Amino acid sequence: MTVAQGLKNMPKRSPFEDSLNNPDSFTITYELVPGQGAGGKKIDRLLEFARRAKEDGRITALSITDNAGGHPALAPVAIGTEIRNIGLEPMVHFSLKDKNRNQVESLLFLYQREQFRHLLILGGDFPRLTYYGQAKPVYDLDTIQTIELVEHIKAGHYRQMDEEDLHDRPFDFQCGCVVSPFKMTEAEQAWQYAKLLEKIKAGAKFIITQLGFDLGKYAELIHFLDHENINIPVLANVFIPSPAVARIMAGGAVPGVLLPAELAEQMAAESKEQRLLRAAKMTAVLRGLGYSGIHLGGNGLCFDDVCFVLDQAEQFQKDWQSHRQEAHFPLKGSWSLYAADSKKQKKLHPGTRPGGRRLHQLIHDLLFSRSNPIARAFGGFCKFCDRYHFSRSLFTSSEKILKEILFGCRMCGDCTLSESTYLCPQSGCPKKLINGPCGGSRNMSCEVYPDRLCFYVRVYRRLDPNARIPDLGTHPPLPPKNWALERSSSWINYFQGRDHTEKKAT
Ligand code: SF4
Repeated sequence: MTVAQGLKNMPKRSPFEDSLNNPDSFTITYELVPGQGAGGKKIDRLLEFARRAKEDGRITALSITDNAGGHPALAPVAIGTEIRNIGLEPMVHFSLKDKNRNQVESLLFLYQREQFRHLLILGGDFPRLTYYGQAKPVYDLDTIQTIELVEHIKAGHYRQMDEEDLHDRPFDFQCGCVVSPFKMTEAEQAWQYAKLLEKIKAGAKFIITQLGFDLGKYAELIHFLDHENINIPVLANVFIPSPAVARIMAGGAVPGVLLPAELAEQMAAESKEQRLLRAAKMTAVLRGLGYSGIHLGGNGLCFDDVCFVLDQAEQFQKDWQSHRQEAHFPLKGSWSLYAADSKKQKKLHPGTRPGGRRLHQLIHDLLFSRSNPIARAFGGFCKFCDRYHFSRSLFTSSEKILKEILFGCRMCGDCTLSESTYLCPQSGCPKKLINGPCGGSRNMSCEVYPDRLCFYVRVYRRLDPNARIPDLGTHPPLPPKNWALERSSSWINYFQGRDHTEKKAT
């Protein structure tokens, strides 16, 4: 059997995929959160929800979180397989906080075997305290690199699949990605959109937003995608928290989530039905704004609650504009990409605090541009030092001392300082992200260390003042680090052609 014959026999698209790709349909997905342990009432409730959803027919995919909130939980494959057996499409969250690249591939093969088609690729919240303390954060690949890996395997550029395997179980994952349109400041929001563009370029086929309640910010994302001529389905995250969870969210305890305090207060004083009605109004407005669907979720909800929201949303749809104000909870003081009532993007202000960037750039060009004689001489010296253990060790120690003082260098051996305005992501970002920020920052503060600025806010302040959103970050995005180079000299590795400037997937 040839690949072409195999592809011909591939299973038909799922109702979820059909719905996503049909501009006239409004796609509804729902988020399930498995807890700890292999079974019990919570899992029974999730599966009962799936059975009811299948009978009802309006929800076309159920997403399953992957160690949500940085806590260990039942692996999503367990629930995903049962959902698939029930006859619904599982959309498995693929969180990179606790997987290295081998585990990523291994899980892709497992999900291929299980015939899952839809993965939601996300970085994930930083691991929390658990057995004997905090788990080691991994983030070996970022979201862009993971989507690229999937696309490389699909295209046969990496890890050739056996034709028989492709026939039985096609490697045809459709990766979704996430974005937050709910950032308070220019730097954070511009980065969110810049990284979204890269995820789409890498191969993301659909988008799910962070949860939020500011309909102006939801509308901004649609304008931005129109402006960039991007036409892939985008689902708005409509989350219905219990009053207790709303209070926790308003207090800032959930990374990347901004819930206005007035909304939390209002929720504390209202009935469940009122909260469900608000979600129904939001759904109607989001459909009116041009969203392809909604990604519903909440805590303490049963399937009847979800049916109520969907039924009411239908009722509200015809005059959705009239519900806009009631369902809108603006993030006061937040930055917007568009001026009020205008579709013209505002001018950005990167590069307001360039610090020592220009001087570092000058020295970098002098020593590493390959085209000037000083760089060629320095390269020759690096190569000479690499010949002998003693000279290599001495050279590496000198580089370590100098770069540790100047940049807080961690000697990863594959230096990306010049791609991040001469700030080191290995010491500056707790998730060690090299292609733009996560979604966890809050008012410019890092998700992990709230007393520090997000590393990428600092980078933004040092960027070229003329940079526009598509210019932020590195083009093409940086490949994954080669950890075999750790603790070696990045200068020698550069001139010997071992670092990312030469790297190709093997
Ligand atoms: S520094 Fe920024 S990108 Fe890195 S973990 Fe903190 S919030 Fe996320």
